[in-house]
Amino acid sequence: MFFHRIPAIVQRLYPNRTWNNKDAEGKVYLTFDDGPVPGVTEFVLDQLAKRGMKATFFMVGDNVRKYPALAREVISAGHQFGNHTYHHLKGWDTNLEHYFADVQKCEAIFEQVMGKKSTLFRPPYGLMTGPQMRKVSQSHKIIMWNVLSGDYDPTLKSDKILENIKKLTDSGAIILFHDQKKTAEVLPKLLPQYLDFVQQKGFETAQL
Ligand SMILES: [Zn+2]
Repeated sequence: MFFHRIPAIVQRLYPNRTWNNKDAEGKVYLTFDDGPVPGVTEFVLDQLAKRGMKATFFMVGDNVRKYPALAREVISAGHQFGNHTYHHLKGWDTNLEHYFADVQKCEAIFEQVMGKKSTLFRPPYGLMTGPQMRKVSQSHKIIMWNVLSGDYDPTLKSDKILENIKKLTDSGAIILFHDQKKTAEVLPKLLPQYLDFVQQKGFETAQL
């Protein structure tokens, strides 16, 4: 089943993860997972820059290795970045040791390419085991989301996605998009209109 809003019961099951920021009156948090990916990440950066907006990019370590200049471009534009593992691992299929080593490998490439480590982490697929969560949360704030755009789902029409996420965008919302190959076609039909909406509503695009 596809749903845009994460049910409250799921959020209560994982109290150590940040799903939204209820105290953030007038602020929303734009997040982009899986990049940097040439052709897609630049588009996102350009749309954000046009409106003076800031976002958080949860990067895959292996993409940072492949596209270091693009990763640095994200940082020099003043955006935040976070760890999304080196190999985009699914926590439930990976043992603790392997999972944590992959998170550290991602930090090593961040340091090498961007000169600094990240303090934020988002598990690929939103899935990680309790032990993985406890281990990673010693060094990182674990950031989930409460508005899932569904931009990666080819069965969803962009106008439908737009309608849904506009409805769900409220103070403190953490909105999840992807800057990856699968979203290359839909983002131009979705992101500019959505960012205009955020601007018209007077939301500040804050960092986590
Ligand atoms: Zn991902």
